[in-house]
Amino acid sequence: MTPFPQPLTDRYRRFKHRHFDANIYEELATYGQSPDVMVVSCCDSRVDPETIFSAMPGELFVMRNVANLIPPYETSGTYHGVSAAIEFAVLNLRIKHLLIMGHSGCGGVKAALDREVRETEGQFITKWMAMLETARLSVLASHQGASRKDMAMALEHEGIKTSLKNLRTFPFLAERENNGRLALHGAYFDIGTGNLSVLNESTGEFYAL
Ligand SMILES: [Zn+2]
Repeated sequence: MTPFPQPLTDRYRRFKHRHFDANIYEELATYGQSPDVMVVSCCDSRVDPETIFSAMPGELFVMRNVANLIPPYETSGTYHGVSAAIEFAVLNLRIKHLLIMGHSGCGGVKAALDREVRETEGQFITKWMAMLETARLSVLASHQGASRKDMAMALEHEGIKTSLKNLRTFPFLAERENNGRLALHGAYFDIGTGNLSVLNESTGEFYAL
């Protein structure tokens, strides 16, 4: 049997003996979870919502995927992991806020921008990132002559807007937003500075918190 990684064993023991709060976890186990906020963020190991928002267990319902993307509502096919998580958060947990959090230096966005992945034999990332094709063409057209870094940031921002737009194609979600029971938000985390900026959907601009 392959040994369980020692670093994980050590870190788990540190958590269990130093940080595990029996009262909090026992209460969560007894009464279940009731987070008010769902965060959709990237798989990127540097962008951890619980760390960024100083969250305790039970406070954030988190879904992470490559480039924090939400596909449009569709019922064809069989396995809709993103849609299942949204459905559970909105209909069962009745979250009040849903935040799409993008970030600087996103590998998924960079791959979409540079078409790097499209030249590999990867089966999944190419198709997944095609969700940003319209946004990519828009950024390429509006950022002619801009640096790659500025273009990447523009597409990272557009990716957040695309996900918010796609979220609103879910009928049960749009209904709750329209009657004020659910608020959608977009935010952007700059890894190097730790700055979080929030999307103003009226202007399309991000402002620093
Ligand atoms: Zn990313």
